[in-house]
Amino acid sequence: MDKPPKRAQAKAAPAARLRLRVSAAAEAAIRSGHPWIFADSIREQNRDGRLGELAVVYDRRDRFLALGLFDPESPLRVRVLHAGQPQVIDCAWWRARLQQAVARRAGLFDAHTTGYRLVHGESDGWPGLVLDRYETTLVLKLYTAAWLPRLDEVIRLIGVEVPHEWLVLRLSRNIQRTAQEQAGVAEGFFVSRKAGEPVSGKVPLAHRLTGSPAYEAESQPTVTTFLETGLHFEADVVRGQKTGFFLDQRENRRLVQTLARGRDVLNAFSFTGGFSVYAARGGAKSVTDLDLSAHALAGAKRNLALNKTHSAVAACRHFTVQADAFEWLSGAPSQKFDLLILDPPSLAKREAERAGAVQAYRRLARSGLARLRDGGILVAASCSAHVSATEFFTTIRHAARESRRRFTELRTTGHPPDHPAGFKEAEYLKCIYLQC
Ligand code: SAH
Repeated sequence: MDKPPKRAQAKAAPAARLRLRVSAAAEAAIRSGHPWIFADSIREQNRDGRLGELAVVYDRRDRFLALGLFDPESPLRVRVLHAGQPQVIDCAWWRARLQQAVARRAGLFDAHTTGYRLVHGESDGWPGLVLDRYETTLVLKLYTAAWLPRLDEVIRLIGVEVPHEWLVLRLSRNIQRTAQEQAGVAEGFFVSRKAGEPVSGKVPLAHRLTGSPAYEAESQPTVTTFLETGLHFEADVVRGQKTGFFLDQRENRRLVQTLARGRDVLNAFSFTGGFSVYAARGGAKSVTDLDLSAHALAGAKRNLALNKTHSAVAACRHFTVQADAFEWLSGAPSQKFDLLILDPPSLAKREAERAGAVQAYRRLARSGLARLRDGGILVAASCSAHVSATEFFTTIRHAARESRRRFTELRTTGHPPDHPAGFKEAEYLKCIYLQC
């Protein structure tokens, strides 16, 4: 890696490498491995940066600190790809990085689990990028526009390193317009090719995705099926939330299965019934899926039907309730359950919503607990990154104390191994199990 330029040179050479210096606090954060550099911590910049180009960060003594993907529009200005010693970022480097992420999953899953996360953003060294596998379909989801100029390269690399039949591109809502305007790319199209074959030719990706019928998946359904610990599930990989399924709750679903025997189960915020199918296999007497979305509940019915070959699933009674879970649970508690799962969507999308979210978790837990029979189990999960695990657990324990019933804490859980959390802001998932 070359040295930082003298300022005069930097001005005269607009194509020079983009170089930054940051505040002392940001330097310390980068040294401790934090992958985000915010715009307001940038002290010097040799020129305007382009979307997705590599920016090199130097410390106050002109020593190399890190390099990362630059986004001139985002307050999260640089997402660090590498920190420490100077490093050449070339094709071999990208390939090794993808291979590392894939290798980290080796041995985690056997043939009974064909849906899992292969690349989990920053914590796998791919900031703002997620790659999920559903059987032979891969879903690539981008959360930052900084990947757009490299999209073709990334897809080509995935094509070589991770054999698959279909690749679906998903874009988080906040980057869909930029993607359309700057790269001509829309989400939801399939790049069609045979497993392992690299993308051919020099056709720009935008043309492949939107212009050429050969690459559009007219006959490919958007719903794919896959296995999770031997259970069959559907995922709508084009329109579904996240990449089509909440793969991050697998370990909690397995635990729920072990607690479900003989119980009447309420799965609140059920989505497509993941927890319910596991509870049914674990011998639940009945499962009730409660969700606002009729579409999700229809999926829950299909997922249960897909697993009727298990006698326990076939024997389990299934009910659906389409309602606002907050209202339904706080209504008159006529119907009671022996196992109650609360897995709401993120209730704090930003820091300012944190206090309100904590109150909402408390309200939910209180009304949920009122629906539990003696000996019943509450499973309360949170996916709000702005509410810490400690704060969430304290809130639920507090609600349990307020209920004036005696509770035993069975356990708390965090991130599953295919969704590692390498820094504080990446820790979003936590779950607590209480039995009364
Ligand atoms: N537990 C699920 C994932 C839950 S995702 C699983 O393991 O797959 C959150 C779900 O909550 C979504 O399906 C969404 O439709 C639903 N939802 C959001 N707000 C809701 C509300 N107020 N009442 C009921 N369901 C709600």
